[in-house]
Amino acid sequence: MSTTSEYSFFQSVEKSFDKASKFTNWETGLLEQIKACNSIYSMRFPVKMDDGKIEVIEAYRVQHSQHKSPCKGGIRFSLAVNQDEVMALAALMTYKCAIVNVPFGGGKGGIKINPRALSTYELEKITRRYTSELVKKNFIGPGIDVPAPDYGTGEREMAWIVDTYQSLKPGEIDAAGCVTGKPVSLGGVRGRKEATGLGVFFGVREVCLMEDVMKKLGLTVGIENKRVIVQGLGNVGYFSAKFFRSNGAKVIAIAEFEGAIYCADGLDEEAVFQHRKTTGSILNFPGATNIEKSSDALEMECDILIPAALENVIDKNNAPKIKAKIIGEAANGPLTPEADEILSKNGVLVIPDMYLNAGGVTVSYFEWLKNLSHVRYGRLEKRFTENANMNIINQIEELTGKKVSPTERAVIVHGPDEIDLVHSGLEETMINATREIMDIWNANPSIPDMRTAAYVCAINKVAHSYTELGIFP
Ligand code: GLU
Repeated sequence: MSTTSEYSFFQSVEKSFDKASKFTNWETGLLEQIKACNSIYSMRFPVKMDDGKIEVIEAYRVQHSQHKSPCKGGIRFSLAVNQDEVMALAALMTYKCAIVNVPFGGGKGGIKINPRALSTYELEKITRRYTSELVKKNFIGPGIDVPAPDYGTGEREMAWIVDTYQSLKPGEIDAAGCVTGKPVSLGGVRGRKEATGLGVFFGVREVCLMEDVMKKLGLTVGIENKRVIVQGLGNVGYFSAKFFRSNGAKVIAIAEFEGAIYCADGLDEEAVFQHRKTTGSILNFPGATNIEKSSDALEMECDILIPAALENVIDKNNAPKIKAKIIGEAANGPLTPEADEILSKNGVLVIPDMYLNAGGVTVSYFEWLKNLSHVRYGRLEKRFTENANMNIINQIEELTGKKVSPTERAVIVHGPDEIDLVHSGLEETMINATREIMDIWNANPSIPDMRTAAYVCAINKVAHSYTELGIFP
């Protein structure tokens, strides 16, 4: 993967912010406050590894903004973690939450480790120690700062975090809301796991349904038969691929560290995932062609490219070679600012990360609300709705003298389960955000690209909440 940029990750977020702030009327001081990282907690702690040796662990939690409480954002485990990266990711969380109207400030955490090289026991010790460091400094809590999964973490780590937190804060009634992305059995919400990938799909689908946008790109309207390339088969890439495929698109290539595979008829992400699990590599998947150099997959002919791995994978060197018409940024920061400029000049539509991958935090918001309300979604209304629907169908049948089929009856009567409500809340959120950003772009043709329009949307919302708070004495 190429990673050349003259800007650090945080600087490139600042650069995008500055580019957009010119299209707003907010005073400089306020813009500077929105841009700044409010609190940075950089920590080092010792952990005794399985071989008996002590290792000093480098970790961070950054709270970019506190205009809304709590702060929100994932925790990543990766050797590439550094302060600048966590600051950039925390800043993106501020803008992301604002765009999708999720009432949180932006935060992010990171631990500089390679989770694949550590045992489960070592990972548990590190995660629990990190959590207690956060508790000590009041950097975690349902009303303070609420972590979630990110690159290299998932339900298991969130379970360790909530358990550590609860044991340190006995009797705290809302403690389950101290972290999201938990297993359902520990207060998680159904639908959180696939949320980011599903949100990516909803966002791209909405763009593909815009006739004027598709016409400009020379594409047909809709998702059906679009050729999609996905980089990364982690949680986000896997579920993005799944929803594109199951809605009629063809996932023609999937890329991972070790290489990429191509199949013009489309790949089944689940079969690829299982193949990788058993053989240890994505390569040599039956019926597909190997692409030895993984990054070559990004440059292949396709309609939609979904980078769903890490930042800076498209830079000034490979940007001119990109043939996709649409890039859906499922990862955070997959394009360098230089790449962004090149792609925009080449007429590629970049659907920006900070809103396109907001599905995760949107469903995290639903999970947090569930934790604070102490009740599962749908518990109160499901049966009531089903009874009401049943009465309506019975009446219609009686008045018309006709019967609906048992399958249709089941569909019409069905009252919402938690998963239905979460998915529909996510769909509504992503559709609204896409339209809102496009409206801003359409209303001001001098805004150069969709990312800038998204930043304008975010800046306006954050600025409004600062001014409404009246916190500048
Ligand atoms: N890590 C995800 C993100 O970057 C989710 C954050 C959250 O749910 O708080 O958006």
